[in-house]
Amino acid sequence: MAQNNIDNIKDHAELFHQDEYQELFAAKKQFEGGHDPDLVAQTAEWTKTWEYREKNFAREALTVNPAKACQPLGAILAAVGFEGTLPFVHGSQGCVAYFRSHFTRHFKEPFSAVSSSMTEDAAVFGGQNNLIDGLANSYSLYNPKMIAICTTCMAEVIGDDLQAFITNAKAAGSVPEEFPVPYAHTPSFVGSHITGYDNMMKGILSNLTKGKKAETTNGKINFIPGFETYIGNLREIKRIASLVGVNYTLLADNSDYLDSPNDGEYRMYQGGTTLEDAADSINAETTIAFQSYSTTKTREYIEKEWHQPTSVVRPVGIRGTDEFLIKLSALTGKPIPQELEDERGRAVDALTDSQAWLHGKKVALYGDPDLVIGLVQFLLEIGAEPVHIVVSNTTHEFEAELRALLDTSPFGANATIWGGKDLWHLRSLLFTEPVDLLIGNSYGKYLWRDTHTPLVRIGYPIFDRHHLHRYSTYGYQGTINLLNWIVNTLLDELDRNTIVPAKTDISYDLIR
Ligand code: SF4
Repeated sequence: MAQNNIDNIKDHAELFHQDEYQELFAAKKQFEGGHDPDLVAQTAEWTKTWEYREKNFAREALTVNPAKACQPLGAILAAVGFEGTLPFVHGSQGCVAYFRSHFTRHFKEPFSAVSSSMTEDAAVFGGQNNLIDGLANSYSLYNPKMIAICTTCMAEVIGDDLQAFITNAKAAGSVPEEFPVPYAHTPSFVGSHITGYDNMMKGILSNLTKGKKAETTNGKINFIPGFETYIGNLREIKRIASLVGVNYTLLADNSDYLDSPNDGEYRMYQGGTTLEDAADSINAETTIAFQSYSTTKTREYIEKEWHQPTSVVRPVGIRGTDEFLIKLSALTGKPIPQELEDERGRAVDALTDSQAWLHGKKVALYGDPDLVIGLVQFLLEIGAEPVHIVVSNTTHEFEAELRALLDTSPFGANATIWGGKDLWHLRSLLFTEPVDLLIGNSYGKYLWRDTHTPLVRIGYPIFDRHHLHRYSTYGYQGTINLLNWIVNTLLDELDRNTIVPAKTDISYDLIR
């Protein structure tokens, strides 16, 4: 029978174009009391004007599509980099469902995190009982080596005290006394996912390293990735460190957890930095972070409590990767291997091949502070001009650092840093001062649709394209990846703009 033929099962992209749905939508409109379509079109046009831009930028009490997420999201990403660690979110269940689905949609991997499932009674009387029961259940059901607890808005609004609750939970026998339960308060009404990452990293390191300080160093270098969503970057850092011969500890390595092999067996805890290595990180020679603004408190803690020097290097583009390798070489006394020098030469060659298509191209970009600084550094290196830079989770320190970077190049002269602004502000900017290219996460597809600015997807989250997170943006190989995404997006656009036969196709060239 026709209705049982699987060929007749339509994907939703096709399904709703069928007559029966189109008729249904038309009929539904009659009852919606919508505005006159001409007025809607006229208003939509008005939103593209300078007049609307000024009104848009005058808004104070409303945020529309901020380029940031909330603290616990970052906290649980930090937690899953450690071996056998179960993230536990103290608060409402819906928040945790959102975090899990956010990561699953980006990494296309299962993401395990539990919740104390606070509801109305816990909101009134406090969530201690939920946490005591939740810890006991998590420990016995999921057999973790560590449970890392963070909070949602709900627990923070009522002032739940994690330190006291965990002490009481251990006294009640939820988990053994010596079982590690690091925690971080992660109120989402301040900061963003990068603050949550920082809080949790600091919480885990301070828990695991307590009493582990030795007389001498272990000769290692600690690497802290920060809120890193490119698996390829973690693997590239490990590859470079191995090539140079660095003895290192990655704090923490979630690359296997977020990219596990499909061999027919589900493992809840895949890979990760061992708790022993993490505990010994207090005895390292030094700590290098690859992001500054997602590791601020962690680095302060390491310097103050461990008496260990820290530094920040962003190995993006030629200059950033050079700085990283020179630093590794200086710290270890080992030369930079020929293999990496060859990679550098190939990356410089690739940049030179594409230079003519990149020079002077105007770019808008948005994202987390460290991502944006790395990308701006790269754009200046290739002779592109950052024009609109939107960072919702900005700080004064970040803006000063970015401004200093822009001032190092004539290509940075026309850039405006729009700190604390959102993607609806960026929409106005793109309409009133158009650019050649937009760089940002998947949410930029709505700006692409409205403004027709070609979009290069770089950042987090990337939900609507597959596998980009597997690539690196770090190192000389990452330089080629960034170049590839950017220049080929520009060339795709050029083809689209020269496609009309006998009209524009005089420039529809085979060779670019
Ligand atoms: S902002 Fe608060 S309520 Fe919303 S998902 Fe984050 S923690 Fe939950």
